[in-house]
Amino acid sequence: KHAGRGAVMLYEVDSSEAAAQHREIYMASTIREALEQNRLRLYAQPIAVAGNLAQVSHYEILVRMVDERGNMIMPGAFIPAAERYGLMLLLDRWVAKELLERRSERIAASGLSFALNISADALGDKAFQQELVDSLKESTLPAEHLGIEITETAMINQMESASQFVSDLRSMGCKVALDDFGNGLSSFGYLKQFAIDYVKIDGSFVREVESNFVDLMIVESINQVAHRLRAQTIAEFVEDAATAERLRTIGVDLVQGYYIGRPIALDELLQRNLGRAASVLESVKEIHRQK
Ligand code: C2E
Ligand code: MG
Ligand code: MG
Ligand code: MG
Repeated sequence: KHAGRGAVMLYEVDSSEAAAQHREIYMASTIREALEQNRLRLYAQPIAVAGNLAQVSHYEILVRMVDERGNMIMPGAFIPAAERYGLMLLLDRWVAKELLERRSERIAASGLSFALNISADALGDKAFQQELVDSLKESTLPAEHLGIEITETAMINQMESASQFVSDLRSMGCKVALDDFGNGLSSFGYLKQFAIDYVKIDGSFVREVESNFVDLMIVESINQVAHRLRAQTIAEFVEDAATAERLRTIGVDLVQGYYIGRPIALDELLQRNLGRAASVLESVKEIHRQK
């Protein structure tokens, strides 16, 4: 019943693997419904300058889902099902529309910059690429205020179709980030295939950069290679002051994480008619204090 009207499913009652598969099928139908009923929500998390945490460079857009009962479901719980059942393209298209069509005026007026996560499926889809370029051209939002984040793994899987898209976007002024760098089938060799603006150092190396010498070496190395390729670095998962300070001394350019600010509802952020960049972070902190 949960997999949709008329669906037939076979499974063994005893198998936990079958139960997990059943849950994933159920989740996939929940996502389809949420897309149809506009029950996805856009959140935004600030990315700040390491040398001046009050200065926000831009915000990463992160999607959440609200289920029929009104519970907020995080991407970790539904993205795997969306990936397996071919829903990532629909999801990324929905997010791009919400941002570039429904909110472009407000975003342009705010003066803030945003980055979208683009899945491997969307990255490899020519129609999606064209839609994104077209809606960016049509929107009032300057291309310089929009970026995309592509995971290393997605980039590798879609290398052929991605490289032209990435260079098209960059020539328009869009910023391109390589996400979760170091986490996938990492190879610095991929970095030479095309120019990018940001390398996002995977959170798994950042979390213990203060206490783990190997993590420190990895962060330093990625930072150095990225800089020599003229990309800026972003460290994700910065959860405390000591980590932020360490990243600053290493020379990492930008930082993102709960210490800087948690993701907040995009509309709440836009409602605050933010003028000066310096006041943005205070607003984010204030939104959290009020909760
Ligand atoms: P990501 O792109 O690497 O995004 C960073 C994730 O880390 C976000 O989780 C964010 O809330 C979380 N995070 C940020 N700072 C901290 C911190 O200091 N500590 C900890 N523990 N976590 C932190 P979220 O929102 O759950 O998203 C998870 C992943 O789902 C994202 O990872 C991204 O790969 C994917 N995702 C989210 N929204 C979209 C979307 O619209 N499209 C696509 N294709 N993927 C999305
Ligand atoms: Mg990301
Ligand atoms: Mg990331
Ligand atoms: Mg990550």
